[in-house]
Amino acid sequence: MSRIDSSALALLDLRCPRCHEGKIFSTSALSTRFSAMPAHCAVCGQALEPEPGFYWGAMYVSYGFTVAIFVVVGVLLYYLAGDPPVWVYVLGVTVAVLLTTPLVIRYSRALMLYLFGGISYNPNAASQSQR
Ligand SMILES: [Zn+2]
Repeated sequence: MSRIDSSALALLDLRCPRCHEGKIFSTSALSTRFSAMPAHCAVCGQALEPEPGFYWGAMYVSYGFTVAIFVVVGVLLYYLAGDPPVWVYVLGVTVAVLLTTPLVIRYSRALMLYLFGGISYNPNAASQSQR
């Protein structure tokens, strides 16, 4: 794996916040275990759950993402479908939320780890790791 210097790009690619090289999630977003995370980064050994229950806070982040999806789908349906009946809004939002659930959960956890995990980027983390 190649290292990404930008923290924003490393977050978008769901990389470890310390080394920007190891993956935060152990399976694909299309897997049924899409939220499975290794305990430690495979490259630098950074603990990916800073404290027990750390990712409970990611629920608030995913709530924000989900509200944004509601608004975007609602506005798109209003303008593109010409203010359809209510059942179309309900169906559209439900399908959009269900389809984006793996991405919302993964990015919520990653954002939580980057913002509140207390982990700073160290370009030499991979070579300094004891693993
Ligand atoms: Zn790492």
